[in-house]
Amino acid sequence: QGTIIVSVRAAVLGDEYILLLADDRTEITRTERIRNDFVANVSHELKTPVGAISLLAEALETSPDDEDTVRRFAQRMHKEASRLAALVQDIIELSRLQGADVVHQGKPVDINDVVADAVDRSRLAAEAKNIEVRVGGRTDVPVYGDADLLANAFRNLIDNAIRYSPENTKVGVGIRHKDGLVSVSVTDQGEGLKPEDQERVFERFYRVDAARSRQTGGTGLGLSIVKHVVENHGGEVTVWSQPGKGSTFTVRLPDLEKEPEEESAAARPP
Ligand code: ADP
Repeated sequence: QGTIIVSVRAAVLGDEYILLLADDRTEITRTERIRNDFVANVSHELKTPVGAISLLAEALETSPDDEDTVRRFAQRMHKEASRLAALVQDIIELSRLQGADVVHQGKPVDINDVVADAVDRSRLAAEAKNIEVRVGGRTDVPVYGDADLLANAFRNLIDNAIRYSPENTKVGVGIRHKDGLVSVSVTDQGEGLKPEDQERVFERFYRVDAARSRQTGGTGLGLSIVKHVVENHGGEVTVWSQPGKGSTFTVRLPDLEKEPEEESAAARPP
């Protein structure tokens, strides 16, 4: 249904032939549109906290008398500044992931350690909502890649599981190795996602409920960072969910079982 855009160049060759060159510009135009949308979204997302901080600062300049108001304004400013910092960090991370081949310098990675690291990084958020994060399963087969990027991706999934679940629930992290793939799944007992949202959650800045996401410190970029990290590692991330019951996000990465030595593993493209 989409329009195919072609650029056609013609040249007359002698009396009988005309050379026609047609370029399919569709993909380029699509990429340009995505980039333009991203820039527009980034500007909008950055303007909101910057605007709030500047309004609050202006209000503080008129130095309200009561200490309570000053404290409240300062707290709001702090919150907006943290949001801004998280957003800038995610934008930088995403552009880094879209550029060079980030796992080119990768190494064999022990996925059990990476998951433990991610769970550790999410500990405070889990404790704040009294959510138990439990890891099940393990594998001694390594994957190839960048441990820090992977830990960050799993942390994003665990943070989301906590963010979109009610208090006093459980989050399960399962590690498996099957058919040449190491999989890590994060399951929550949260609000779940409708099928139409499941298709779109990996898009940049797509949120089911933007106000809720912002309020809880989300940037709208977490899952698209996860997707980029995983695809950079030659893997895939999928979601399964039942609205009202919970969601499972699963990352599958190719294993390194068939690599006999670390050296050849290091030379292998991800
Ligand atoms: P955000 O920073 O808003 O969490 P993400 O890219 O991480 O951005 O996620 C995109 C959207 O997907 C979220 O705003 C939320 O609506 C939805 N989402 C992500 N993870 C879950 C989950 N575990 N349960 C329910 N909804 C989720």
